[in-house]
Amino acid sequence: MKKIAFFCIPAHGHTNPMLPVAAELVGRGNTVRFYSFNEFESKIKATGAEFVSCDAFLGELTQKEEAGLKNVSATEMTIQDIRITLNMDAFLDGEFKTFKPDVVYSDSVCFWGKLNAWKHNVPLVVSTSTFAFNQMSSQYMKNSPGELADMIFGLPRISKELKTLEPYGYKVKNALSLIQSDNKTDSVVYTSERFQPYSESFSNHYAFVGPSVFSKALPNKQKERPLIYISMGTVINDRPDFYAKCIDAFKDENADVIISCGNALDISVLGELPENIKVYPYVDQLKVLSEADAFITHCGMNSVSESLYSATPMILYPQTAEQKAVARRTKEIGAGVMLTDDSVRGIHSAVIEILNNGSYAEGAEMCSKDFRSCCGTAGAAEFIENAPHESEGVDIIEKLNMLNGKIQIFYWLAAVALTVLFGLLISWKYVWIAGIVAGVLSTPITKAIQRKKYNSLVNKTR
Ligand code: UDP
Repeated sequence: MKKIAFFCIPAHGHTNPMLPVAAELVGRGNTVRFYSFNEFESKIKATGAEFVSCDAFLGELTQKEEAGLKNVSATEMTIQDIRITLNMDAFLDGEFKTFKPDVVYSDSVCFWGKLNAWKHNVPLVVSTSTFAFNQMSSQYMKNSPGELADMIFGLPRISKELKTLEPYGYKVKNALSLIQSDNKTDSVVYTSERFQPYSESFSNHYAFVGPSVFSKALPNKQKERPLIYISMGTVINDRPDFYAKCIDAFKDENADVIISCGNALDISVLGELPENIKVYPYVDQLKVLSEADAFITHCGMNSVSESLYSATPMILYPQTAEQKAVARRTKEIGAGVMLTDDSVRGIHSAVIEILNNGSYAEGAEMCSKDFRSCCGTAGAAEFIENAPHESEGVDIIEKLNMLNGKIQIFYWLAAVALTVLFGLLISWKYVWIAGIVAGVLSTPITKAIQRKKYNSLVNKTR
């Protein structure tokens, strides 16, 4: 029997999948101490785990910082993560000395969990509530110009904050090394190998266990008229404009509609609701999805996983780069359509397409079967109990990184040779144009070669 310390940031999407794992570990006789926040106390205690409140370490936020967090700014989240780690340092030093955990199970972006496991030499298992993102799978993410600007201009602030960790015994190369999935760290991912993009690039340190849910009940879609469920998740959900359009789109439809709008919105701003539409701050999402026929979702990983688990096809309305990656993969497996036009008419026609074209429900049903065949929370618990795991097999990313240097050298030698040829055969006056073209094409071409090499490495290791 082991003592396991759970760590998570204050977010539903990150905490929820850890709960069934905690319950499973407790059921198997382990002691689980869950470091979390008062908002989640009752849910955590219901798993049988000990709850430790960390609210006192959250610190005061300026208005600007609060706005940044609300807009899911990567820079602001990273900086707050570092500050909370510092605020918790002395407290966690004491906890690691007295509780003496055998394993740390920490959310992938919860710095204080990961950093303290390293500092105190305790085996770490990472809980990954999104896809696992490495250099291959992160190609699914397309950052918006705003997200890119936030990351680029935030780098100096982040490096300055990271330096404050050093005197406390935390050694960090850069922020990316703290959040990116690497092939040496034991990690649990709540999806299947089939749904995870580029799953072959991940080593045996990854357990793809499928969605982490409490209820294994099979979906039941039998009812008189279709049920449409709408949710923008628990973070960026203050969208009265969007809910109003949804209400307009379905007020005369022979269908029931449930909208989960979050706690921030005063429901009365939506006016008098038609008899077929109900709006709640929070619902038992898995239960609603088990009966729903279409789900308009912001494409948070948990929401999409729960929808696929419940064989519910989706109308995909992603807002962030990470959600766009999840949406793209869902579309690829044929379980949803993108909401490209979010007008009243656009919303209506996307839902009608999902309800009338059975192929999306079939895509979701196939994924539901795949998810249900995964090892689930029992597999996750076993993986955590047996950590640390020894490395086995070929590390495709390591091999690819070795080839990458050669690909870059080869590309630039070829580019210089072609530029010289251009100068000799056509004109030296315009040779700078060839230089610019070579620069612009370098990323797409080297990425295409890298993908080809990746495919041949995958084929070789099969
Ligand atoms: N959720 C819920 N009821 C609601 C809305 C959300 O239980 O009314 C849960 C949902 O089941 C999921 C989590 O909150 O487990 C949301 O996580 P997700 O990754 O989808 O999105 P986020 O809220 O992190 O953007």
